[in-house]
Amino acid sequence: VENRIRNWWGWGFEDSKIPDAEIKQLGSLLAERLGSELTFINEPDISDLKLREPRIKLPERLAQIARTDARERALHSFGRSFQDICRILGGSFERPVDAVIYPQDYDDITKVMEYCDQNKIALIPFGGGSSVVGGVNSFEVNEESYKAILAVDLTNLNKVLDIDLTSRSALIQGGALGPILENQLKDHGLTLRHFPQSFECSSLGGWLATRSGGHFATLYTHIDDLVESIAVITPSGYSRSFRLPGSGAGPSFDRLWLGSEGAFGIITEAWMRIFNRPKFRASLEAYFSDFNQAINASREIAQSGLYPSNARLLDPVEALVNGLGDGMKSVLLIGFESHDHELNIWLNRAREIVESHKAELKAFEVKSDSEKIMADSTSKWRSSFIRMPYLRDALVRLGLIVETFETSITWDKFPELHKEITACVKKILADDFGQKGWISCRFTHVYPDGPAPYYSVLTVGKLDPLSRITQWQEIKSAVSDILIKLGATITHHHAVGRDHIKWYEKQVARGYDEVLKNVKKTYDPNCVMNPGVLIR
Ligand SMILES: Cc1cc2nc3c(=O)[nH]c(=O)nc-3n(C[C@H](O)[C@H](O)[C@H](O)COP(=O)(O)OP(=O)(O)OC[C@H]3O[C@@H](n4cnc5c(N)ncnc54)[C@H](O)[C@@H]3O)c2cc1C
Repeated sequence: VENRIRNWWGWGFEDSKIPDAEIKQLGSLLAERLGSELTFINEPDISDLKLREPRIKLPERLAQIARTDARERALHSFGRSFQDICRILGGSFERPVDAVIYPQDYDDITKVMEYCDQNKIALIPFGGGSSVVGGVNSFEVNEESYKAILAVDLTNLNKVLDIDLTSRSALIQGGALGPILENQLKDHGLTLRHFPQSFECSSLGGWLATRSGGHFATLYTHIDDLVESIAVITPSGYSRSFRLPGSGAGPSFDRLWLGSEGAFGIITEAWMRIFNRPKFRASLEAYFSDFNQAINASREIAQSGLYPSNARLLDPVEALVNGLGDGMKSVLLIGFESHDHELNIWLNRAREIVESHKAELKAFEVKSDSEKIMADSTSKWRSSFIRMPYLRDALVRLGLIVETFETSITWDKFPELHKEITACVKKILADDFGQKGWISCRFTHVYPDGPAPYYSVLTVGKLDPLSRITQWQEIKSAVSDILIKLGATITHHHAVGRDHIKWYEKQVARGYDEVLKNVKKTYDPNCVMNPGVLIR
């Protein structure tokens, strides 16, 4: 990761982009399936990009660690949602960040914060820049209120600083991207095992600041569950919590910073609970003709106390897209892992549960070879999970709307929510898009009291990328209204950012919005930290 070049306009790295010829081939295949001609948009060329001049002259100390070239500024002015890719392809570069600062140590962070605080300059903390909710978007910062906007890229602060083998935890810097921190832990036979789909280009600080959802489908679903202690730098100073396995001492400081989205300060490092690398793994694939039976099986698994590390339900369309089945059956993937013990008992009990819901078992395997397990999971995961975001960008270049939204809700209310959401999206697809597309659903995480459903929408949109944003917003707005109406969360793990504020304000408990504003006043009295996220 360290020596690879980031793609300035889309997901990931230059060396992994899908070649144009392959995209065109995919376009012909999809055109047949969608019954529509697909066009092809060329990749934008950085040499065509003319950005306005930076509006400030940085003091010498900051100029030394700053980048102001068009490539760096463009890369750091957007996140990586479907809408962001459309904005970039559509040439929406009117309000880029004025400079990108790369702190080399914590003193640099303090210096840039002081400078912003004293000069009314907006500071956007930037980890991997993989936000899909407008969390790092400069163009949404109110220009009248700020002299300039700086992105502060934290990825040079990427070290595992300390490992406590007795307590099995590690002190990791906030800017470490997924592969960089995992490589350092691997040398000690350890792993954080937090694998969001954005793993390649997202950072520990970003995960904490957005309460990201990772690898574990039960139990340690959010990064929250792996935190022992957090350290932060804010415009009003430095703070850190005790390292504790648990504490009942008042409302939790760590929890305040989980989901803080850069609005109060920068998470510089955290002591994280880590795992020994798994040596045993057991998994099964269960196929269901009836989606409702698959839901009931997922619920029983979630309530069984087995706590599988993987328990992902895919509806028939999701299963097909992921190369499982023929598009007629739902698939429940269950996986257990351990560094300590064989897993046959767990897997057999899971098998009994799914079979009691009329599942057909296709794969049932138990493995106990640690290196092979890691290699297997890495290669499978690389091929589909890691490639998916590159594919998303390719589809955007083919004129498609391809986007997701996610939530969580209790089991009792899920059927009604699912019915309303799918009916609403199908109606919009029929009325506005001539049926050319689909909506699919999977559960990314399951809890004893409810699932976290994740919906994907794919349809042919207008060729002009900026018009496609408006088309997507119609869908997104309608489904977000349904989520709040039925008491589902506006986000299970993608965060609030700028995109979800309108619905978050309806979800937030009375008085808590005021509490957050007061927290902001305490840590960031001049409101320079990532203005507009979380709190208007
Ligand atoms: C293709 C794709 C797949 C994704 N898959 C998942 C997934 O599986 N699970 C999931 O949860 N999310 C997923 N996301 C969303 C995104 O990756 C997560 O929100 C991730 O946690 C963001 O991390 P980041 O380092 O990229 O943060 P950034 O995008 O850089 O920043 C996100 C927010 O956190 C703030 N921030 C960043 N670093 C710090 C810091 N050190 N201190 C304080 N604030 C900070 C930023 O200011 C911003 O508000 C996906 C996104 C994409 C594009």
